[in-house]
Amino acid sequence: MPRVMLRSYAQPERRLPLSAPPRWQVALREAVTDPTELCRLLDLPPRLARQARKAARAFPMLVPRPFLARIRPANPRDPLLAQILPDPRELARVDGFRSDPTGDGVAAWAPGLVWKYPHRVLMVPTALCGVHCRYCFRRHSRQRLSAATTDRWAILCRRIAGEKSIREVVLSGGDPLTLSDDSLSQLASHLASIPHLRRIRVHTRLPVVIPDRVTDELLAWLRGTRLTPVVVVHVNHPAEVDEAVARALGRLVDAGVPVLSQSVLLRRVNDSAPVLAQLCERLVDLRVQPYYLHQLDRVAGAAHFEVPGCVGERLIGSIRSQLPGYAVPRYVCDRPGSLNKTPLA
Ligand SMILES: *Cc1c(COP(=O)(O)O)cnc(C)c1O
Ligand code: SF4
Repeated sequence: MPRVMLRSYAQPERRLPLSAPPRWQVALREAVTDPTELCRLLDLPPRLARQARKAARAFPMLVPRPFLARIRPANPRDPLLAQILPDPRELARVDGFRSDPTGDGVAAWAPGLVWKYPHRVLMVPTALCGVHCRYCFRRHSRQRLSAATTDRWAILCRRIAGEKSIREVVLSGGDPLTLSDDSLSQLASHLASIPHLRRIRVHTRLPVVIPDRVTDELLAWLRGTRLTPVVVVHVNHPAEVDEAVARALGRLVDAGVPVLSQSVLLRRVNDSAPVLAQLCERLVDLRVQPYYLHQLDRVAGAAHFEVPGCVGERLIGSIRSQLPGYAVPRYVCDRPGSLNKTPLA
């Protein structure tokens, strides 16, 4: 990476890095965070950048360039742009939209652990994400949830070790794949040493945002652990799945890792039967199993993304009539206090 070389020459007192950082880490570091730059790169009116800068104060913008490259320029209504461009409507207060809509704060079992459902516990090993999705239900609670820093992993693993009923650990976030494969493989071996654990599940958007994230090292620890690995990728629109993403997903599947997908039903992004059908069919063609279509969690700042439940039901009905049964995701919502995701159709 030329950038790294330049830096090392400029600071000769620093030890030269043993190897260049992986490409995905460079992509993450070089993500676009300034709305003005984004609008310039995408040929969008400066007015949008001004509005976005205000809205980004509450939840900063973050868009890696491999994702940005899939946004069509000069189109303020692009469905990928809508997911990442801060919008003044985020600042509006809307009744019923709260800071912790899923009750995860209440269900927090320890910092970095959310235990709501029988036999599986959600672990938040990092607060960092590969992209900032404007509708994210953790947009207000990221810092509170994310105390599971590397030095606390052993403590969390002891908590899990003390609960024999837990069979699966779901790494969620933040995005667990923002952590290095070294760290993740250490975490996986901690978890694998807990005899009653059977599965490790990774909830991530990174293989879609930065397909280079699917490295040999990632495949190695996923394949090498005693635990059965499952990867659930977050993807909302068929335009997110370009050739590089298709190859990255194919590498996971070829490695023998079951890959599922989850999407959030979003107004003006994927609230159309043809778009959802195209997404699901593309995923099954890539051997990815559509798992959940989530009703939007009613988080403050995301009201403008909401699609009424009756519309969601109609959309699911429509794709059910077009696609094989296995290509239709379960349409669910996350009710605080419930012991599972609640089916809506
Ligand atoms: C969604 C979720 C899970 C996983 O639920 P599945 O239905 O098994 O996919 C686990 N824990 C929490 C807190 C969740 O929100
Ligand atoms: S990647 Fe997931 S956790 Fe991160 S901002 Fe997007 S929806 Fe939220």
